[in-house]
Amino acid sequence: MVDLQGQYQKIKENVDNAIQEVLQTSAYINGPLVKEFQEDLEKYLNVKHVIPCANGTDALQIAMMGLGLEQGDEVITADFTFAATVEVIALLKLTPVLVDVDSKTFNIDIDAIKKAITPKTKAIVPVHLFGQVANMEAILEIAKEHNLYVIEDNAQAIGADYTFKNGTKQKAGTIGNVGTTSFFPSKNLGCYGDGGAIFTNDDALAHTLRGIVNHGMYERYYHDVVGVNSRLDSIQAGVLKVKLPHLDNYCNKRRNAARFYNKAFKNHPAIITPTNQSNTTKNCGEICDFCNCNVFHQYTLQITNGKRDELHKHLLATGIPNAIYYPVALHAQKAYRDTRYQESDFPVTNELIKNVISLPMHTELDDEQLTFITQTILNFLS
Ligand SMILES: *Cc1c(COP(=O)(O)O)cnc(C)c1O
Repeated sequence: MVDLQGQYQKIKENVDNAIQEVLQTSAYINGPLVKEFQEDLEKYLNVKHVIPCANGTDALQIAMMGLGLEQGDEVITADFTFAATVEVIALLKLTPVLVDVDSKTFNIDIDAIKKAITPKTKAIVPVHLFGQVANMEAILEIAKEHNLYVIEDNAQAIGADYTFKNGTKQKAGTIGNVGTTSFFPSKNLGCYGDGGAIFTNDDALAHTLRGIVNHGMYERYYHDVVGVNSRLDSIQAGVLKVKLPHLDNYCNKRRNAARFYNKAFKNHPAIITPTNQSNTTKNCGEICDFCNCNVFHQYTLQITNGKRDELHKHLLATGIPNAIYYPVALHAQKAYRDTRYQESDFPVTNELIKNVISLPMHTELDDEQLTFITQTILNFLS
């Protein structure tokens, strides 16, 4: 699905030097490269505070701890996503409230959020799925009306821009009260191990978060709040510092591959290609470079003739990597089942888990590979 080796070879010298720098200085934990990467990322995202941490799941957990959410508080999130989001809600003894998604963008459905709000609702966690930012303008409006926190799970959309109706642009993850990301190797900005970060423009929240990631300490051995141990190590920070300046180019390469796929599959009666949706008046049905609204963490088709599983097997047999993200709705997972949910609450998710298939998507795809992949799919479905 990804070609991390091909990508590494092109930046090998700089990456190797960064890792050597850590080895030479033995500053493995909280070394200068962590601070340097943090500042570079603050500049890139145009956000006041980046708090590095150990992974994207921790980032979500720490964000929720930092906001002071308490047992029994209801947190609304999407039914169609990776489990980490709902996992940390449950782990903190908050009450997860899963809601359906939009059939075009795969992102949390606005009407479903509105229906799920109760007096106990404290936060909404939109996940910017597959590289596309959720409808943040509508989410912010709901949050304002009901006095809710917005926590963006931006593990899949780092580098994406969100354009408000008035033309203002903001980077994904910097729009809500707090945003989180993952630097897992296969993410759009991936390190060579685990890593994550939290973003916020709120000075007081940033201070709290910096304490929580470090055992609740602001002064060594003085624990002011209950914390965790969650650090980005210096070697990973070194890798990320080298890769960050390439992120926009990496996103463009992904969009180029998406454009190739879209063109090949356009008008096929059994294939729905991903929809780009932006709040601007511009037509974002096409994959445009100017609005950067989708950074294509995944390129995900919907196969509408019931042959998704056959296609999945056929591609694997042909040597073409592909994956089903996600095969089970979160509300149907053993760990997260709840009698409050009705199947009729999740018509879109229940359809998507049967139809979606994600194709190879990375920075090293060339036309020859893309032609082989698209032709194989078109031949199979013809
Ligand atoms: C990858 C991912 C996470 C978790 O990140 P880790 O670094 O693997 O802990 C959380 N949410 C979403 C949507 C993800 O894709």
